[in-house]
Amino acid sequence: MADNKSEEQVMSLKLLVNKETNKVLFAEAEKHFVDTLCSFLTLPLGTIARLLQKESIIGPVTIGCLNSLYQGVANLNNSYFLYETIKEMLLQPKNSSEDYCNTLKFNIDDTEPTKYCICTEFVHIGCEFSLYTSNTKSCNCGSPLTLQVLPKPYCDGFVTNTTFVITDNIVVMPHSMHVTGYGLLKNYGIKSTSSLKQMTVNVTKEQVLDLLKCSLISKSPLTDMFLRKKPTLERSCIFSCNVQNSSNIEINVKLVIRKSDGKVLYAQGDEYFANLLLCFLTFPLGGVVSKLRGDCSLGSIERLYNSIVDIDETYFVSTEAKKRLVDPVVARQFNFSKQILPTQKSYVDYYCYYHGENFEQSITHNKFFISHEVWSNKRNRRELVLRNNSKTHKGYVKGLKIYVATDDLIISQSSPITSLNLIDCSGTPLGDLKEKVVTIGVKECFSILKAALTSTSALTNGLAHLLTEVKEEK
Ligand SMILES: [Zn+2]
Repeated sequence: MADNKSEEQVMSLKLLVNKETNKVLFAEAEKHFVDTLCSFLTLPLGTIARLLQKESIIGPVTIGCLNSLYQGVANLNNSYFLYETIKEMLLQPKNSSEDYCNTLKFNIDDTEPTKYCICTEFVHIGCEFSLYTSNTKSCNCGSPLTLQVLPKPYCDGFVTNTTFVITDNIVVMPHSMHVTGYGLLKNYGIKSTSSLKQMTVNVTKEQVLDLLKCSLISKSPLTDMFLRKKPTLERSCIFSCNVQNSSNIEINVKLVIRKSDGKVLYAQGDEYFANLLLCFLTFPLGGVVSKLRGDCSLGSIERLYNSIVDIDETYFVSTEAKKRLVDPVVARQFNFSKQILPTQKSYVDYYCYYHGENFEQSITHNKFFISHEVWSNKRNRRELVLRNNSKTHKGYVKGLKIYVATDDLIISQSSPITSLNLIDCSGTPLGDLKEKVVTIGVKECFSILKAALTSTSALTNGLAHLLTEVKEEK
């Protein structure tokens, strides 16, 4: 954020406004703006939670339980986590498409880019793996990893250099014979151009942050951003989650429920339960929308996602670029055994390129770079494999402990006294409480996630289908 140069940059956007209703009909945008809009889908929910709390023109924004989940992790004692680095990993989750996002004119993901280290002994002893992420201290061969290297960008954003049309609810369409200004006006029922006004706005990086905020909570982000200067909150009702259950996850959780209104005060479970809730922070937004397809009530994000799915592949810089947006995966550092969204491949092949002299000398003189792409210079090339130093691990928090999650997903370690505090805080008489053990599978996880994005009662709403009988029993 300290980069003043990039803050001065602006992206120009042309708006067509209906003067009578004071609403944006559509915007005409170039590649850079569309690239930035696309990048929203790659952001992990933890990054989104952090960005939403940042100051901007419209101010901090809260969605569902996302902020309480994030803040809860920030407040958790480091000693609960399996490794010292995990808390920071969850609060600054890596974007699995950071290689694409780092090439954008406006990248609002302020997570520190991954740096790689190369083993200098690779030339002499030819270690099997010689490229590591910078938090690894030494190579498998024992040599310290002191030589840092940044991968050379092999792409330039997501979409090709063409003109796009973006509707008020951020449906993106390439300008083509099928999508014309006249056709759009006809669709909107506009009879005369006299009711229209053209505007050109210069979008700053701060406004891009506002655009993200508005996209997540409003059905008319462009109008809210450029005309009203504040988002219109749209509260949507909860629908049941239509994700299919798969058999590999079954976790027993004890719920403490208030009988009078069916509210879940808190849930107790083992480390697997805590891990499943914590991993929400690592999920890319597009991955969540794709999983909750047709059922995701986050502002206009689902419309953006669906329009990207519909855009022909020829408008993207590559097949892979489109795939990164419609099927974004969880970054490889979060590859844990009960992950419920697909994770990035654990090993990455890189090519190491050097110029001039031989490989050994180029390493010593720092005259080399690494890239995923096969560059034209085939001669001066070595293949390297990025060693995944974050192997599949069991999860994030320590085992053999009981964890408790409140209805708004604040997670902490449970003790008999802390549980009583939670009951106390809710002001519920003990006679009005009931315990119930439920089994949570993948379906329930997504149901809790969906409820967490749309309400502050993730457990009560997300597990409603398991709670109906509680009310009958009382
Ligand atoms: Zn080595």
